[in-house]
Amino acid sequence: MKSVIYETKGRAREFNELAINLFTGCGHQCIYCYGANVLHQTKDDFENRPRPRVTPDDIARSAEDWAKRGETRRVLLCFVTDPYQPIENDTKLTRQTINTLHTAGLNVIILTKGGHRSMRDFDILTPKDAYATTLTCTTPNQSVIWEPNAALPSERMDALKEAHRLGVETWVSFEPVIHPEYTYDLLDLTHEYVGHYKVGTMNYHPHGKMIDWNKYGYSMLSRLKALGLRYYFKKDLLKEMGLIPSQFKQSWICR
Ligand code: SF4
Repeated sequence: MKSVIYETKGRAREFNELAINLFTGCGHQCIYCYGANVLHQTKDDFENRPRPRVTPDDIARSAEDWAKRGETRRVLLCFVTDPYQPIENDTKLTRQTINTLHTAGLNVIILTKGGHRSMRDFDILTPKDAYATTLTCTTPNQSVIWEPNAALPSERMDALKEAHRLGVETWVSFEPVIHPEYTYDLLDLTHEYVGHYKVGTMNYHPHGKMIDWNKYGYSMLSRLKALGLRYYFKKDLLKEMGLIPSQFKQSWICR
């Protein structure tokens, strides 16, 4: 049987090398989401009928297999869905998964726009885990246009702050970028409690063509360096900056 914990490929591998996708679909309904395309679903099915994709038994089997092989890399929850979208309130599948992976001796990276919803599982995260969120907008008005059912930016920042206070490693994905000015503001607002930033572009929405990525990339690089922060620049952005990814010195690689 195919393992539900899998090695990522391509752009996803720039986020993390191991992942599980717990759900098919996502009720956050971000307008730039590429999940439906990746999974060959209609947008309607993806957005309006999210459902568990794996069972607790699948997860336990897979976790034991990876642990037996001596795996030490953390497992990311999730890429093409959100572990704390609204249906997780009913399924509690994410909490179960974290417990199962911990029992097997594996650690997790939570990547979510669930904000306060995700904080209810902070009691089971440990300093060997990590907590990450995507930040795109600074105000509620901007956020509900682009990510209608996701937590508002202030909630996502609350969750980061609390994870940091608890000693859990934190990071932020600055991808997609909706407006460079929003991202600059988000960096100023969060850098005291965020361990690392992943800096990318906007690949899957025509709005991305309106942004000068070269200018944005160099501006972000100098801001991150001036603040003494750790960063990972995505290959797509490095290409826009005229840089060769293999020669660029990243200050943080996720494991
Ligand atoms: S939270 Fe992620 S998976 Fe869910 S709709 Fe938004 S971009 Fe897609």
